[in-house]
Amino acid sequence: MAPRSKLMSAQERLSEQLQLLSQFKYSDLDMPYAGVGQHSNKATRSLDTKDIIRILDTIAVALTTGVAGDVYAAAFDTRGRLTLVLAKNERSTADDDRAVRHLCSLIISPQTSAARDVFPFLFARCRANIQKRIAKMEAVVKGFSVGIDEVLKDYKPKSIDEELPLSTDYRALRYGDKRDEVSVPQMIRDLLEVIKVTVDLFNSLDQSTSQDDVHGTFSAIVFSALVLKRSRLLRSLCEFQGFIHRGRTLEAERLKRRLAKVCQYSEGIDDLIFYAKHYFPAGIPHCWVGPIEGTGETTVQLYGGYIGAMKRALNNVTPSQKTLHAPRGRFPEMGEEWNRSSSIKTRVHAEIRILLHLDTPFDENSGHSQQQPIGCSKRSCLCCTLWIWAYNKKHGTNWLTSGSHGKPDSAWALPGPYAHAWMKDGQSEVDEAVIDGVQERLTQTIDLLFPMQRRLSDEHRSSGSELGGSDSDGEKVAKERNQNLASDANRVWANISGKLKRH
Ligand SMILES: [Zn+2]
Repeated sequence: MAPRSKLMSAQERLSEQLQLLSQFKYSDLDMPYAGVGQHSNKATRSLDTKDIIRILDTIAVALTTGVAGDVYAAAFDTRGRLTLVLAKNERSTADDDRAVRHLCSLIISPQTSAARDVFPFLFARCRANIQKRIAKMEAVVKGFSVGIDEVLKDYKPKSIDEELPLSTDYRALRYGDKRDEVSVPQMIRDLLEVIKVTVDLFNSLDQSTSQDDVHGTFSAIVFSALVLKRSRLLRSLCEFQGFIHRGRTLEAERLKRRLAKVCQYSEGIDDLIFYAKHYFPAGIPHCWVGPIEGTGETTVQLYGGYIGAMKRALNNVTPSQKTLHAPRGRFPEMGEEWNRSSSIKTRVHAEIRILLHLDTPFDENSGHSQQQPIGCSKRSCLCCTLWIWAYNKKHGTNWLTSGSHGKPDSAWALPGPYAHAWMKDGQSEVDEAVIDGVQERLTQTIDLLFPMQRRLSDEHRSSGSELGGSDSDGEKVAKERNQNLASDANRVWANISGKLKRH
């Protein structure tokens, strides 16, 4: 088979398998065989890389509108004049380019001193994404609030400064003279309520609301979310420091991540402003990664419904009646969803576009072992993670993104025969590692979901420095940064004091 047609048939099979995994709700976080806590590489990133990846993640997020599939990645090209390299899952547009120019000039402007000054830009471009993140955070806060009394009953709090670091302004605002009398459990309960009530207010704002009020309400959400995010209780639950509520670790990790995603529009932007003013006071040139030839980008048509796909995934063993019945019970939408998404437009994901653009083949001076960060507007998917791992292993490089959500995306395109791919039988060995990794995960998933079928198939066969970041900030930096948030929060909460006092 010619290499191109081989790539296309591999792409079709991969998209079909990813679609099955996706409909089985597979993710490395939720499946029982997945290692919890392995989805972020925070612990293994060096200090410099950690700062840079935070900045790059924030740039990618500040460009993300919230339209489905609107995913960005960013990296610094340090090979000549320092340049910001950007990529998108879809083709970049003139509007995207205007947004980068606007953002880059805004963050170094003398009139810009804090994230609050960038809110008008962010709400004009990213409002849908901000709303999405708030909604997801709200859902997790609600879930976390259920049974919180049980957790607090067993919790042994330390001093208020250890429990709720950098919260002096918040406590002064919420409790005034009584700030030293409120217990830690009471403050945690109040915080959860304050976030919920402020989000309710945010959701009730409409077209008639002034932009300043919208931004102010968002500040109030961030002001309270930051206190909860830094809390020792949340940290203890995430790290499971001998604390008995082990079952809540996953939930606490999810809450911390959701809080951080909302706060990124304030904390992350504050860091970005600091970094840009310090390192690029005269601005920074940027470029977009253009189209890449010869990849698996195409439109895949899935034929034969999900039963045919399951049969192929099961090594052409016809699924038993019991196996066919199971997805109908467990995933009742499956047939309908499969038909709705039978035409899949595959795209090389943004982080891989950047890696291919920046990595020079066999460059002796490229410092291969050095960590090379790529920022993303969302955590990397299952295939990007598998591909980057395989690429690093094959080429001795150290490319990394800030983490993976471990979910399959059927629209993921094989990068194919890029310039220095090691080829085996006409196929890139790095691509092959993804194909094998997905096949392995699909087999494991089917085994877990349909144990009876496994037996059938087996028989048949016998014939995968934070830059002034908040956690390490002094109270002084936190106070400076909190000023805008606190004054907004004060105004917002004064208007809804009746609702807040009831809790
Ligand atoms: Zn991806």
